[in-house]
This record gives sequence, C-alpha cells and structure tokens, in this order.
Amino acid sequence: MSASCIARGCPLRGSASNSTRGGGRWVCSAHRRAQPWTWPAVTARIRTHGWLFDLLGRCYEIGIMELSADDGLRVSAALTDRGLPSLAWRGHDEPLQEWVRRFEGSLIDLVVHGRVIGSTTSVSRAAA
Ligand SMILES: [Zn+2]
Repeated sequence: MSASCIARGCPLRGSASNSTRGGGRWVCSAHRRAQPWTWPAVTARIRTHGWLFDLLGRCYEIGIMELSADDGLRVSAALTDRGLPSLAWRGHDEPLQEWVRRFEGSLIDLVVHGRVIGSTTSVSRAAA
C-alpha cells in the first residue's frame, strides 16, 4: 500500500517512494515529475482537475485488464462532456489499456506543465 503524497495539500496517493528525500516518503506520479519549486502550482492544478483523477481512478478500480468497451465509452463521454475530447478513448483502433496510459500521461502533463504536451488537434463537437 502506498501512503499519501508528501506534497502539501496534494490529494493523491504516493506512487513511488523517493528514498533520496529521506527514507520512504511517498510522492504521487505528478509531483515526482515536477520540479520542487513548482509543487504548489502542481498541487493547485491537481485539485482543479480532481474530477479527471476520479475518472482515471475509476478505470483503475475496475482494473486495467478488465475494462470493457462500455467502461471506455462511459469515461470518454464524461471527458468529452467536460471539453476534453482529446483525452477520450479513440475506439476500437486503440486498445483500452493504451488509452488509459495515454489518458494518465496526458493528465500528468496537464497538472505538471499546465497543458497537455503534444496533444493533437482536438475533435470538435457538433453540439454542446
Ligand atoms: Zn502529489
């Protein structure tokens, strides 16, 4: 089991023990990638985008290898509804496991850098 991330106010669980910081303290995958002086900004973005971490967490609760197309579609509908269709599952051309990794990577980019690095053109929606 992992403990809470050591960054002040971070709601995420630590996913890696950073022994160089003194004995088994845990940092989340976002703070692990961020420079220490950016940690407060990263924490603020994590809190702003908590709903995205909830969606990602739902995928992990189901189990990455257990995800069904319905699960992918349900999470992707929520992403599209909230204006992030570029993070949505691309359908059967994209294995669900790859999509979850892409989703997670984009989400980490978003909170570490304030934007999604290398995001391609987003799919436009016909109606709100
Ligand atoms: Zn953190």
